[in-house]
Parts: sequence; C-alpha cells; structure tokens
Amino acid sequence: MSFVLPILSAGCKILAMALFKTEKKAPKAGTAGKWDVVIGEDMCKACGFCMSVCPVPVFEYRTVTNKIGWFPMYVKHEENCIGCMLCYQICPDFCIDVAVRDEGRSTARVEQGHALN
Ligand code: SF4
Ligand code: SF4
Repeated sequence: MSFVLPILSAGCKILAMALFKTEKKAPKAGTAGKWDVVIGEDMCKACGFCMSVCPVPVFEYRTVTNKIGWFPMYVKHEENCIGCMLCYQICPDFCIDVAVRDEGRSTARVEQGHALN
C-alpha cells in the first residue's frame, strides 16, 4: 500500500499543473496592435486568471476598488495583445471581450460594467 500514496500525490500534482498552469506560454505568431481588449471592471472579482494565462504583458490590477469591493483588472498595455482569446475563454465572470480593431473603432463589447477611469 505504501506505493499508492506517491502515485496519488503525483496524479494530483499533474492535475493541479494542468488546471493552474503558472508559467507563461510563449506568444503565438499573432499580430500585436490589432486587438481591442475590454474589461467590464465593475463585474471583475480580481481572480487574476486573465493575467495568468495571457502570454504577453497586457493586464494590471487597479489600486482602487470597484463597485463590488475588489481591486479589478484593467487593460494597461492593449498594444501587446496578440488576440489569442485565452483571457476571454477563462474569465469566470464573462468580464472580458476581445475583438479585431476596426480601423480605430472598437468592436469589443462587454454587456455590463465599464472602465473606472
Ligand atoms: S487575447 Fe487576452 S490573453 Fe490573449 S494576448 Fe490578448 S489580452 Fe492576452
Ligand atoms: S479573469 Fe475576469 S474576473 Fe478574473 S481578474 Fe480577469 S477580468 Fe477579473
């Protein structure tokens, strides 16, 4: 039985790594500077998932709270976005939208919430 615990422990570790991968992925060959990234900051619960999965520096935490009392994420460096959509897919509160920039006019939409500044 002594071999069961190490096997279970290794299994749990692999599962945790798959679910909460902390290392940054290498950016794919997307084109930066062509994407609008919008966060509904009033809905953000500051979980940090978007920042964790983003392969390039785009997100940062605000130093003031939103309406629900969290320090929300905001888009600090939109110009770095390569449109991989990982943040859009992982946000548990549907706060993020990413869309191709339409000649200077944003096509990204988030139904509720808005930037704080
Ligand atoms: S789509 Fe989201 S995760 Fe991907 S590069 Fe842009 S901001 Fe980062
Ligand atoms: S994943 Fe969504 S809820 Fe979490 S910090 Fe990012 S925007 Fe906020």
